[in-house]
Order: sequence, then C-alpha cells, then structure tokens
Amino acid sequence: MLKIENLCVAYGYVEALKGITLNVEEGKIVTLIGANGAGKSTTLKAIVGLAKAKSGSITYQGKNLLQEETKNMVRNGITLVPEGRRVFSNLSVLENLKIGAFYRKDTKKIEEDLEWIYELFPKLKERTWQQAGTLSGGEQQMLAVGRALMSRPKLLMMDEPSLGLAPLIVKEIFNIIKEIHKQGVTILLIEQNANAALKIADEAYVLETGTITIKGTGSELLKDDEIKKAYLGES
Ligand code: ATP
Repeated sequence: MLKIENLCVAYGYVEALKGITLNVEEGKIVTLIGANGAGKSTTLKAIVGLAKAKSGSITYQGKNLLQEETKNMVRNGITLVPEGRRVFSNLSVLENLKIGAFYRKDTKKIEEDLEWIYELFPKLKERTWQQAGTLSGGEQQMLAVGRALMSRPKLLMMDEPSLGLAPLIVKEIFNIIKEIHKQGVTILLIEQNANAALKIADEAYVLETGTITIKGTGSELLKDDEIKKAYLGES
C-alpha cells in the first residue's frame, strides 16, 4: 500500500533520514520505533509532504506521493494523527470531530461515522458539548484519533499516541488501535513506547539516527536481545 525506498531528508546540514526503506502492506499494523530525534516524525512528515525528500521515493497505491500536495493526502485516504494531539481547544468535541470530515459531502455517512466514533470512544459521547481544551490528555488523544477517523482513512498514521499518558490510558488507546485495525484500517504507528507498539504490530522497524537498523515482526522484535536492552528496559 505504502512503499518508502531509500528516502533521504535533510534539514539544512542535519541529515534526518539517511536512506530508509519501509513497506506498509494493506491491512497491517506497522510500527516504527526509535529514540528521541531518530527521525520518526520526519518520516511521517515526508509521507504527507511536510518535509521535503532529498532523494528516494514514496509511493502509495502505486501513486508517487512526492508529487502530491499535502492538502490532497486526506482525499487519497491518508490521515495523520499528529504528535501532541493538536485538538482545537476552543471548539467542542463534536465540532472537532466534524472538522475531521471537512472534505466529505456524504452527510448521512458522516452521521453514521459519528455514531461509530462514539461507540469506539464512549467518553467522547459523554463529552460531546465540552470544550476540547478542558478534556484530559487521554481524552484529547482519543478526540484526535476520532477526528482522524472521521475522514474515513484507508491508512491511519499516528505519531506517538501514548506520549505523556498514564499506563492505564495507554492500554486503552492501544486496545482502540487494535479495534480500529480490526475494522479494516491499515495503521502506521510511530512510538517510543516500544513494548506496547511491538505487542500489536504485524511488522516493525527500528530507526536509529536516520537509519533503519532492525526490522521484523512485532513478536520477533519483542524477543530480540538488542531491542530488549535498548528499548524495553531489560538487560
Ligand atoms: P521525537 O520523538 O523527539 O519527535 P523523532 O524520532 O520524531 O523524535 P524527528 O523529529 O524526526 O525525530 O527529528 C530527526 C532529526 O531532525 C533530529 O536531529 C531533529 O533535531 C532534526 N529536525 C527535526 N525537525 C527539524 C527542523 N524543522 N529543522 C531542523 N532540524 C530538524
């Protein structure tokens, strides 16, 4: 579905990605893990055209994404849940969700999808009229995911959904990611929480200072000694 080949991205003299190759097959959960500054966010930015590729290629369903404008990504079925949630604080939960469907005209389907989101996130339903800025961190993350789903993505990309959340909430978010995946959405998940991400991932890649150093299935990487030492806090 999504193929990245030999992708290089630089910010001035800083080489953030030094020729990465990564494949997301339709129907899979793929995770990209790595430490701070490894280049994870840059990868997502390059996919949606917010960071400029110096060389390499990105194709999505056979289309060259490097020639697509960022504003067309959602229409192509690619939606990004950005790091730090970025909900519209002064708007209600419902208004935030409706913004996720901004380009759609199928009013009836939008209503159905709203019900679907409320089923996935009962807490959001309880808080329909609440200002998004007054939600807890976990609820804001749920809202950011719900808003992304309102665009009916084929490929949902998430940038560190567990960042800054308590362990119980992280568990809830990951259960929801699994549920969304079960309902047919392909997922590319960027995480520092390697343990949680590898547990749900079909395929996983480790990014270290702009280079993919290890790849395998989620369960293979969970058993890998180097990963255990460097990312899972085991020795
Ligand atoms: P984090 O989890 O901290 O967000 P990350 O793995 O997502 O880390 P990136 O944000 O992709 O890492 O950053 C990769 C490298 O590129 C880092 O060295 C970072 O300092 C640099 N970088 C990122 N954005 C910019 C920018 N706009 N200008 C200059 N350098 C940047």
